[in-house]
Amino acid sequence: MEAEYLRHGVPLADYQLTRADHSRQHEAVQVHEWLQRHVVQAPRWSDKHGEQMQDLLGPPTPAWELQRWRLRLYCGHVIEATRLRKNPRPDGALGDKECCPECGLDPDVIVAFEPLRAVAAPPPDKRSRMPSHSARKPPGDRRSKAELVAENEALRAELDTLRDQA
Ligand SMILES: [Zn+2]
Repeated sequence: MEAEYLRHGVPLADYQLTRADHSRQHEAVQVHEWLQRHVVQAPRWSDKHGEQMQDLLGPPTPAWELQRWRLRLYCGHVIEATRLRKNPRPDGALGDKECCPECGLDPDVIVAFEPLRAVAAPPPDKRSRMPSHSARKPPGDRRSKAELVAENEALRAELDTLRDQA
């Protein structure tokens, strides 16, 4: 299913920060600092552990499952970022902040956004899942001219048979 992509605070260039944005940024910084303190104290992962984590996470997400977004960050910079295609907005759950590639602010909460495009077209077998009993062919299913001619002839033959019976 194609997600209905949401937009917020467009045009991004004219967006004015709200009180909610300031408090979200403040909160993100506090969480970040807390994590920094505790991660520094934690023992480093061994390579083995790293591999196990990779196994748990599974293979990297294919490009066609990703969507590009234009984001305005708290610092005021507008950047592009990638999110899972199925999400209707780019700032859900843990994805509500970025590290700004322009000024380096980290964390930098997303204050406005608009969808851009899919990273890649889906492979043919994922493009459309129409119920098989439907007579209509999905738009992604392009039949070759030879197939259409063959089908046309088969229909004519069937029609002739029916006429003969009538
Ligand atoms: Zn910035």
